Amino acid sequence: MPPVPFPALERIRADVRATRAYGVQESSGLIKLDAMENPHALPPALQQALGERLGRLPVNRYPDAAHVARLHAALRDYAKPPDGWSLMLGNGSDELIGLLALACAQPDACIMAPAPSFVFYEMTAQQQRMRFCAVPLADGFQLDEAAMLAAIARERPALLYLAHPNNPTGTLWDAAAMQRIIAAQGAQGGIAVIDEAYQPFAARTWLDEVQPARNAHVLIMRTLSKFGLAGVRLGYLMGDARLIAEIDKVRPPYNVGTLNLECALFALEHAGDFARQAADIRAQRARLMDELAALPGCTVWPSEGNMVLLRVADTPEGAQRIFEGMKARGVLVKHVSAMHPQLVGCLRLTVGSADENTRMLAALRAALNSP
Ligand SMILES: *Cc1c(COP(=O)(O)O)cnc(C)c1O
Repeated sequence: MPPVPFPALERIRADVRATRAYGVQESSGLIKLDAMENPHALPPALQQALGERLGRLPVNRYPDAAHVARLHAALRDYAKPPDGWSLMLGNGSDELIGLLALACAQPDACIMAPAPSFVFYEMTAQQQRMRFCAVPLADGFQLDEAAMLAAIARERPALLYLAHPNNPTGTLWDAAAMQRIIAAQGAQGGIAVIDEAYQPFAARTWLDEVQPARNAHVLIMRTLSKFGLAGVRLGYLMGDARLIAEIDKVRPPYNVGTLNLECALFALEHAGDFARQAADIRAQRARLMDELAALPGCTVWPSEGNMVLLRVADTPEGAQRIFEGMKARGVLVKHVSAMHPQLVGCLRLTVGSADENTRMLAALRAALNSP
């Protein structure tokens, strides 16, 4: 039978039809170590308290400006941006990355990022028909400073993304190189976005380096996802009030719902509990690094995030076999060979709870040892 014509499909942009949707892996019944989620659930007493607060909210009303203002104030107390900086909220930082592209999508505008890094930067460039310029990382997944400086001078990107620490490598960039790259981006009139999604697990934040007079072009992006609220969808962007005010104009008016606002406020009131969870995850990361480094034939890189990049094979097929072997033993991780040539043969392992990590290591060893 000939296919039934569906002309309405043709009205969807051809480049959109040609792309593949962002894949979320099926995970039911598996130990989920593929998406950098916090393994710790909210303690029962806090679940009860949060439920009561959510139940009382006026969900018949649009999110209230005073409610948004309270979350702004709580985030300011928590993150402590410099004076003269303001803040905007996103439905996850993914939304903020999308809004940055939308706000900057002028003819010939370019988004730049080191590669490999977070895939969503490139996706938003494609969505807004912007150029995307990827600058390969140097050996050991550090920034290639000379290549970055040359690319900034040549391409004059509107937006330069530095994920700090980086996903999927876990790398925290050399601070002096980062300073010079950010200065070069400012000197040519571009915006530098420091994406600190993994800040709870990192030894440093770029917020401590900011000099407001020289860094009006710098935006710092954070999210509560890796902190422990991936299900809530709350990201925030901090920067010079004049720059934030312009970007905020493309934000849908009620992009963060009342329930999300209240969950985020609640979490910040209990920031100490989340800080203890992050400390546990950092300790588990140290243990994982030791055990992974001892595996024959594997390579592991230092990580300042809640994930560890591990090379298990020389080929994508070899890594796929280990990935499948782990999955057959009940553990879901991320196979990243296809993301970038420098990641061939690599798996990205989210740091889980002590028990999850024990089971993950057992599944990994078994997969490595089975022919
Ligand atoms: C996970 C991640 C994000 C997305 O965070 P959400 O707030 O959940 O949308 C942003 N940037 C990086 C580098 C990430 O790894």
